[in-house]
Amino acid sequence: MSNSPNPHDDLEGDLSEDLFESAPFDLLRTPVIGPLFRWRHSRTVLAFPLLLVSLAMILHGLLGPTISPKNLATVLTWVHFRGALVLVILIAGNFFCMACPFMLVRNVMRRFIHPRFNWPRHLRSKWIAVALFALILFTYELFGLWSSPWLTAWIITGYFLAVLAIDGLFKHATFCKFLCPIGQFNFIASTVSPLEVAVRDHEVCSGCHTKDCIRGRRAHGSDLVVLQRGCELALFLPEKVGNMDCTFCLDCVHACPHDNVGILSRPPATELMTDPRRSGVGYFSRRKDIAALALLFCFGALLNAFAMVSPAYTVETWLSHVLHIQSQGSILALLFTAFLVIEPAMLLGGAAWMTREWAGVTRAWLPLVLRYAYALVPLGFGMWLAHYGFHFFTGLYTIVPVTQNVFASLGWPILGEPRWMLVGLPKYVVEPLEIGFLLLGLAGSLFITWHLAEEDAGPRRVQAFAPWAAVCVLLFLASIWLMTQPMDMRATMMGG
Ligand code: SF4
Ligand code: SF4
Repeated sequence: MSNSPNPHDDLEGDLSEDLFESAPFDLLRTPVIGPLFRWRHSRTVLAFPLLLVSLAMILHGLLGPTISPKNLATVLTWVHFRGALVLVILIAGNFFCMACPFMLVRNVMRRFIHPRFNWPRHLRSKWIAVALFALILFTYELFGLWSSPWLTAWIITGYFLAVLAIDGLFKHATFCKFLCPIGQFNFIASTVSPLEVAVRDHEVCSGCHTKDCIRGRRAHGSDLVVLQRGCELALFLPEKVGNMDCTFCLDCVHACPHDNVGILSRPPATELMTDPRRSGVGYFSRRKDIAALALLFCFGALLNAFAMVSPAYTVETWLSHVLHIQSQGSILALLFTAFLVIEPAMLLGGAAWMTREWAGVTRAWLPLVLRYAYALVPLGFGMWLAHYGFHFFTGLYTIVPVTQNVFASLGWPILGEPRWMLVGLPKYVVEPLEIGFLLLGLAGSLFITWHLAEEDAGPRRVQAFAPWAAVCVLLFLASIWLMTQPMDMRATMMGG
């Protein structure tokens, strides 16, 4: 029984106990993978191949073929990387951030350059990252990034430069925590992952005096020589809840003198239905910026998929005709405003109003919207999985001829002539997977909304649940419709 003053802490414990009666699985205690991850240089070893691949992508993007299905930069970024990322988050956790090549370069830089500044207090939120996330979705459509190896290469280069500039000036993991749009995507998506970095035994933490997991270890007599970093994301392990803001860097694992941190299994998405105070994050219900990230994650998934199906082109042409606007940027800005601002405001605002009217819930309108916004994360994740999974599986083998072509064009055809006919899995295999991902997302969102409605309305839970369930089902049906539309086979030989 917890002594925590926060009643939600007990609730979360109960949930975990119900769903996982036995001791959690600990990835760090498995053979082979466990010792590998516990090795101090594991992150460097995992990131190094990705750094080499990133450099190859930049070079090929700038100097290689300009046709996107033949270029490493576009094929790997828009077909393989995105699909692999969401699949790994689904079955395990945020392992991309663990193997992040940008962090490898940044860590080398920090051996020579010690940042002097703290990130300004008034910027310590997700708002800039949310804006950057939306901007990436926007520029992706506006400039057709999937079809431009050159632009894709410059985006990767720009990312490296931004990481070096920000983390060269500001202390801790400023770029990861406050700016990185990929990181925010991973953080919010991994709230539904089955694994999290967590303490094994809270009793051990109660008796721990050093708190190295957050403070790190420094050389005796010198504050400047860091022997082992503590958590740069400001997550204090005994009070850490879930995966928000956790990069899986494992610094805490290496720092803890009691070997008390593991990568533990947990019921996926339960962190979205409780509201304890999270170390380094605070209360979800008070974080408008994180709720906005959750909504962008969900509605952005639909928008991103909508933009590549045929009806989107019809809508754009119609808008252009009716409003006499020729600029594609303006038309896209209208679509983005409709999908990312007006649609969520109407759906969630309407559901909050009905919850108050029908179920007599006394919470104010905005707190209700913030509370239930997190319930949409599984649905959004289902859509990202279906969308990115579609490109990943239907373009699975495209990496083979592209790599063959790289070597052949260097005058070293050791992998043979490019076999451009290799594409990917047939649609009849991929489509059931897409439906499965969407159903999984719907089930997760309904489960969370039911739980929240029970908490909010007790005997009138059905009335509280119905409006939010209706929003979930509407978004699910829209996703199914999108997935049945003819879709661009972006960055593959079947679509350019
Ligand atoms: S995780 Fe380790 S270092 Fe951190 S408080 Fe617990 S025992 Fe101490
Ligand atoms: S040090 Fe912080 S960010 Fe890294 S794995 Fe531990 S809790 Fe996560």
